Amino acid sequence: MIHILYGDITKFEGDVIVNAANRSLLGGGGVDGAIHYAAGPQLLEECKTLGGCDPGDAKITKGYNLKAKYIIHTVGPIWRGGKSGEEDILESCYRRCLELARQYGLQSIAFPNISTGAYGFPQDKAAKIAIDTVKKDLQKNGELEVYFYCFDPNNYQIYSDLLT
Ligand code: ADP
Repeated sequence: MIHILYGDITKFEGDVIVNAANRSLLGGGGVDGAIHYAAGPQLLEECKTLGGCDPGDAKITKGYNLKAKYIIHTVGPIWRGGKSGEEDILESCYRRCLELARQYGLQSIAFPNISTGAYGFPQDKAAKIAIDTVKKDLQKNGELEVYFYCFDPNNYQIYSDLLT
């Protein structure tokens, strides 16, 4: 099942939230900053042991002070005009996050709109990739509860239009 929510992903009360991190995994602005702030300083300590993360890949940590038990950190593509593999990398982010969630036996996962903030990926294209990739995965690998957390009204509108 796919759900759309409007608001702050750090408030999610399910199994795992996804962080749109950068390659260092050592924190940043946007949703990354909000997640580190809400999870507390132990998150950074665990992230320091992970050795960073490549774009399109994902790594999991505990959720610490969050209600969610885990955080999956993924690194989205920086938009450079669309001819640098950005779409494939974004698709890979969603696939890898779902794969990790399944490996850990998790049943509910919340995604932010990866790469559509500081990384500049066009929101409508990103939403289509996110939804198509998740739908394909659920069909192939079995149902999970997937929540798209939209933090800005424009993204919320785009997801609503694509999913209803
Ligand atoms: P990126 O570098 O991947 O673009 P950003 O954090 O800049 O990451 O933005 C990704 C998306 O996360 C944007 O759509 C932004 O509106 C959203 N966002 C920012 N803060 C939050 C939050 N607390 N909860 C959910 N989404 C958020």
